[in-house]
Amino acid sequence: HFIPHCTVNADGYHPATLDMINNSMSSVNGDPLFLEPFWMQHSTSSALVVSGWNRMSYTYSDHTFFSQQLKSLIHKLHTFVGNAITRNRYIVFGAGSTQVLSAAVYALSLQNTSSQSPTRVVASIPYYTLHKNQMEYFNSEKFKFEGDAYTWKNRSDGSANVIEFVTAPNNPDGRLNEAILDGPNVKKIYDRAYYWPHFTPIPAPADEDLMVFTLSKLTGHAGSRFGWAVIKDETVFNRMVTHMQINSLGVSKDAQFRAFKLLKAVLEEGTGIFDFAYRTMKTRWERLAATLSLSNRLSLQKINPQYCSFYNVVREFSPAYAWLKCEREEDKDCYAVLKAANIIGRQGNLFGSEDHYVRLSLIRSQDDFDILVERLQILVSEEDRAK
Ligand code: PMP
Repeated sequence: HFIPHCTVNADGYHPATLDMINNSMSSVNGDPLFLEPFWMQHSTSSALVVSGWNRMSYTYSDHTFFSQQLKSLIHKLHTFVGNAITRNRYIVFGAGSTQVLSAAVYALSLQNTSSQSPTRVVASIPYYTLHKNQMEYFNSEKFKFEGDAYTWKNRSDGSANVIEFVTAPNNPDGRLNEAILDGPNVKKIYDRAYYWPHFTPIPAPADEDLMVFTLSKLTGHAGSRFGWAVIKDETVFNRMVTHMQINSLGVSKDAQFRAFKLLKAVLEEGTGIFDFAYRTMKTRWERLAATLSLSNRLSLQKINPQYCSFYNVVREFSPAYAWLKCEREEDKDCYAVLKAANIIGRQGNLFGSEDHYVRLSLIRSQDDFDILVERLQILVSEEDRAK
């Protein structure tokens, strides 16, 4: 094969950006296989049969790309869980929330008619890596990633157009983030991938202008690539629909059918999937916390319990990730400390933080989690011996 040896700059972005994107994508370790046992127990109600002649057209009978039946299930689901207000809201689908998030940035930055300079896209540190990577990769004239939201707080250039990503619960640290910036020119995209009882207390239904959800962290079907946005403004909605049309000529009808079948099964089981997911995550956190309680070297994020309207109790957070800190000054490269113990995490700097931090995924299969705890136990016990 002919492999051109000098293609990098022709792509129009800096080789360092490309490297960073490749590194951070090399292991998709947020795979939510912890939900697999639930689906094994509900394999009949969630099964699909699709004949060869089914669903061949680009669109549905109403000439849109979006299944109205699926939309109405999504409304029902949010009402049942009480995690978002969806009445009188528009809904857009995409290939995972990944595509929906980029559609949202395009839609909101198109509103910038008053200014020549690109919309400033920010997120508070630690931020979800993809929010930065997408902006840098798309390299658009319309928007530019400008780092930590805090550094733009109280700056007086009120005329600049800004988009703030607010990830709540946050990836990597699980906190219910709130927006840092405010003002007439600040638009917010709430990434609510983890706003389900699996991972967090639900204090109240979210009611922001633009909220993004995903099947990936709700049912665990990350590979189906299905996400959605709940939107208040009709113009923003229309722009996002246009984006989907130009970007991919719609959304896979197979993915929509799969999502429909899964959400239908979820709703038929009442609180079933939430009970299973919360119980699993809670047990994992208890084991992880017990293991690390013996350590002076490694610490976990601490989030105060909150009232959960879904369970009607004050409860602990049970985030999808551990945001681990290596406490010792000399452990500047916490990733390497864990790697030496055969534990693969994700470096703090990918989230805009220091490398004293590492993110560990807690939503993988039970085997993966058991091995993680086993290896952490060994690491912690060696620390005792070294004392
Ligand atoms: N937002 C956040 C905060 C995430 O953690 C993830 C997945 N790790 C996504 C969005 C993207 O998920 P998907 O494209 O599978 O919906």
